[in-house]
Amino acid sequence: MNRLNGKTALVTGGVGGIGSAICKKLADAGCKVVANYIDEAHAQEWKAKMAAEGYDFAIVKCDVSSFDDCKAMGEKLNAEFGGVDIVVNNAGITKDGTFRKMSPDQWGAVLNVNLMSVFNVTKQFVDGMMNKGWGRVINISSINGQKGQFGQTNYAAAKAGMHGFTMSLAQETAKKGVTVNSISPGYIGTEMVMAIAEDVRNQIVAQIPIGRLGKPEEIAALVAFLASEDAAFITGANIAANGGQHMM
Ligand code: NDP
Repeated sequence: MNRLNGKTALVTGGVGGIGSAICKKLADAGCKVVANYIDEAHAQEWKAKMAAEGYDFAIVKCDVSSFDDCKAMGEKLNAEFGGVDIVVNNAGITKDGTFRKMSPDQWGAVLNVNLMSVFNVTKQFVDGMMNKGWGRVINISSINGQKGQFGQTNYAAAKAGMHGFTMSLAQETAKKGVTVNSISPGYIGTEMVMAIAEDVRNQIVAQIPIGRLGKPEEIAALVAFLASEDAAFITGANIAANGGQHMM
């Protein structure tokens, strides 16, 4: 794996399950990593835990669903770090419900945090990347954006939308050395998924040909690869990492 020394990476939702693994993997590859968060207490606890593991992460509070918040974050990071070279749009939420029961709030919140955020955050850093002639935008989508999922019209629409964004921006930035890709994870063994009742979890695993949940580190490794020089010819792609649960 090529080293990413001298690069600065921003990971939205960096203090979460998959986000933490991404932050560590990028730091291991030599990046200066900034983890974005929204919940102050959680972030402080996380920063202390990471420090105990030997990681010195910068953290930045920002509601990625708010353009104004993202603008302020962009100004702060561009001033402090001279731009951000790698943006990982990882923050996400679910608010499941069948379409008949889904409220406009449930729909709006999920679209705003998962999809509007990709515009809000990426917008702050793409000009800088293009001016430097190097950059990476990596969007964490989902298997359910590829295949749909009962009870997730909001989440699946947002996650599928991320990939439309990816393919379009990739075309606009390719000549300037900026690649834009999506990753669509299947079920990953984060705290949230491990909290699902064991019998339900076993039913999920039974649908995964590889026979287990994914590991956050496996998604993080893919992010680090896409960020590397070795991946310079990959852009506009959506890479599935789902244990064979959905193939297309
Ligand atoms: P987590 O809930 O552990 O992490 C999500 C993170 O998003 C949290 O750190 C949270 O911050 C942050 N966040 C939520 N809302 C906002 C907001 N408005 N502004 C800024 N940050 C926000 O989830 P995972 O690690 O499991 O998921 C990470 C990504 O991977 C998500 O996009 C998810 O959709 C996707 N994914 C996950 C799968 C899985 O099996 N786990 C499968 C497929 C895709 P805070 O902690 O401060 O509240």
